[in-house]
Amino acid sequence: MMSRNILVTGAAGFLGSHLCDSLLAAGHSVIGVDNLSTGNLANLQHLDREDRFSLLEKDITKPFDLGKIDYVFNFASPASPIDYTRLGVETLLVGSAGTINTLDVARKYGAGYLHASTSECYGDPEVHPQVESYWGHVNPVGPRSVYDEAKRFSEAAVMAYHRYHGVDTHLVRIFNTYGPRLQPNDGRVISNFMVQALQGEPLTIYGDGSQTRSFCYVSDLIDGILRLSRSPEHFPVNIGNPDEWTILECAREILSVTGARSEIIFHPLPQDDPTRRRPDITRAKELLGWEPKIKLRHGLEKSLEYFKACIVARPA
Ligand code: UDP
Repeated sequence: MMSRNILVTGAAGFLGSHLCDSLLAAGHSVIGVDNLSTGNLANLQHLDREDRFSLLEKDITKPFDLGKIDYVFNFASPASPIDYTRLGVETLLVGSAGTINTLDVARKYGAGYLHASTSECYGDPEVHPQVESYWGHVNPVGPRSVYDEAKRFSEAAVMAYHRYHGVDTHLVRIFNTYGPRLQPNDGRVISNFMVQALQGEPLTIYGDGSQTRSFCYVSDLIDGILRLSRSPEHFPVNIGNPDEWTILECAREILSVTGARSEIIFHPLPQDDPTRRRPDITRAKELLGWEPKIKLRHGLEKSLEYFKACIVARPA
């Protein structure tokens, strides 16, 4: 692909920063935008001397214009349950006004556009595994609604800019993803269990651990997203790893990978915690020739050094 000028919102986040790395490696120039509400500058520190990268500390809920852009990747949002419940109104704003403002940039410059949507659009799903044609089972007023409904509004906005304004848009529905640069304190299951195991603390299972998730390693996810960004597909595409684990199995795998002998303890299940989640990736396979390659065990091993370094940097 010829070298292009690419805007990445949420660039200092877990996925945003990995996306910047891949785009730069492909020869593009990248303008990263982040208001650092949940992003972390340390994720971009290695790009300090990269001429083709710049970072602007900016809140996308206000209209903005950074000049000619060829492609927009909209990855700005608090994303972990503890972050988006702490930043509820901010999450609603970035997923509504923020999305519209980034779509306006794409429209103005005739740029391509890819929005980071989520398996949360399916809520606590009654259809399993989740296919893109399933409309979801979402509580519009529960604790997760600030995230779920913002992401669902964003999908509607993206489709509207495609239909009414002819913007070349793409929607990826991202399932649980893990790897280096996950914030060690973001409260997510992989980060919590890794940090707990490495510190010899008990692993905290919420509920009885029978709820399931399907975990995708970050490099697989970014590969799928880049393929989608180059495809002619406008409707949502699931990107995730269909290997489904109960949370109890996940805890045991993390004990095995870390060699920790922590006990497993049980806490109450948060309200509206989805009971199961697994992507049907038939569309991704057919449209993009994509499927994940990295098994959970291998991905956890690849993440070990990162989590160990986090603990050294910030002891309990
Ligand atoms: N979970 C858990 N212990 C933890 C953190 C999370 O049992 O310390 C559970 C959580 O209740 C949920 C699953 O792990 O069922 C995944 O939670 P996460 O916050 O990673 O993301 P979600 O998929 O719910 O958005």
